Amino acid sequence: MNTTTKPKLDRFSLPDARGHFGAYGGMFVPETLMGPLYDLNKAYLEARSDPAFQEELARQLKEFAGRPTELYYAERLTQQLGGAKIYLKREDMLHTGAHKINNVLGQLLLAVRMGKKRVIAETGAGQHGIATAAACARFGLECVIYMGAEDMRRQALNVYRMRLCGADVRGVEAGQKTLKEAINEAMRDWVTNVRSTYYVLGSALGSHPYPMMVRDFHQVIGKEVRKQMLEKEGRLPDEMAACVGGGSNAIGFFFEFLEDLDIRLVGVEAGGRGLDRGDHAARFEGGKLGVLQGCKTWILQDPEGQIELTHSVSAGLDYAAVGPEHAFYKDQGRIEFGNISDDEALLGFETLSRLEGIIPALETSHVVAYALRRAPEMRSDQILCINLSGRGDKDVQEAGRLRGDLSV
Ligand SMILES: *Cc1c(COP(=O)(O)O)cnc(C)c1O
Repeated sequence: MNTTTKPKLDRFSLPDARGHFGAYGGMFVPETLMGPLYDLNKAYLEARSDPAFQEELARQLKEFAGRPTELYYAERLTQQLGGAKIYLKREDMLHTGAHKINNVLGQLLLAVRMGKKRVIAETGAGQHGIATAAACARFGLECVIYMGAEDMRRQALNVYRMRLCGADVRGVEAGQKTLKEAINEAMRDWVTNVRSTYYVLGSALGSHPYPMMVRDFHQVIGKEVRKQMLEKEGRLPDEMAACVGGGSNAIGFFFEFLEDLDIRLVGVEAGGRGLDRGDHAARFEGGKLGVLQGCKTWILQDPEGQIELTHSVSAGLDYAAVGPEHAFYKDQGRIEFGNISDDEALLGFETLSRLEGIIPALETSHVVAYALRRAPEMRSDQILCINLSGRGDKDVQEAGRLRGDLSV
């Protein structure tokens, strides 16, 4: 095969003006939202190239969110595994407990710039909801959070946190009463109130321009990693890995390195109870091309095109579609994907807690488990860097229940 004809990888060339990453992405929304989405795109592109906007965002990321986060050498984990040197990018140290605040601050500054006074968001486990509620309090914006009624029951403490920050949390009773239904309800609200309202989407998903905006606001993760890695080791890592729900923490971590072809990039999906239909959320294992909630991408669906039920021990990875940019880079062979089961993730959760004193979120525990598997296959002069997307405080009770350690 003649590989010289392959176009050079240019991470800044995507998406195109209508949001396409190759065959993926786009704008699959009701007609009434096309205008508002084009307005949003225009406002975002202006903000992106305005130094004053970027300066204000950098200030908020530092003062409110707590950036930069450490790049931490996991010494005992490395010794225990006896392979590659393992570094953790500590997004779990951010305000509200996960990477999500990076994107929320960017989008809310955009909302303020666009003169919007009312903000809506959807949330599954509640991490995006908390980040949004906290930042809305910070900026004095009215905040409505849509959440599936089942998720509200499972994440009662997070609901209370959002309400403490002044958010109006609205339960959604339709369907499975989880994230997918909450997104539908948020879209319905947006169609009705689009003049006054800004919709903060929580992952690198949905219609253009969201996958691009969310990616851009998380790029700060990878930019810091490059600088910190060069300071600490004088070179870049051999491999980088991140967990992939919608794909926002992963694309923010990887984007800076897409053209460094010597670095292997690995996305880790939720393997759940196994790869039978309905038991997992590994879109690249059981999924196929389709459209869900605004974009074309890999989706878990049955032969009739109905969206499949999904399962993961971690609510943040439990979604039927994957971000379109990941689908594109999978086809290019630039990002590889694997999956980790619920049981392996729980082992990752316990191992990092015991060896490093760092309790990871259950989502994050998937990439920790990947490192447990992968580091021993690598040489001790190699470096494996993983993105620690969030902290596990929210999951302690659930993990204890699954292990039978807590009578809750
Ligand atoms: C929401 C969440 C994820 C999954 O979302 P992505 O958009 O794929 O990053 C992963 N880890 C944590 C801690 C989360 O809160």
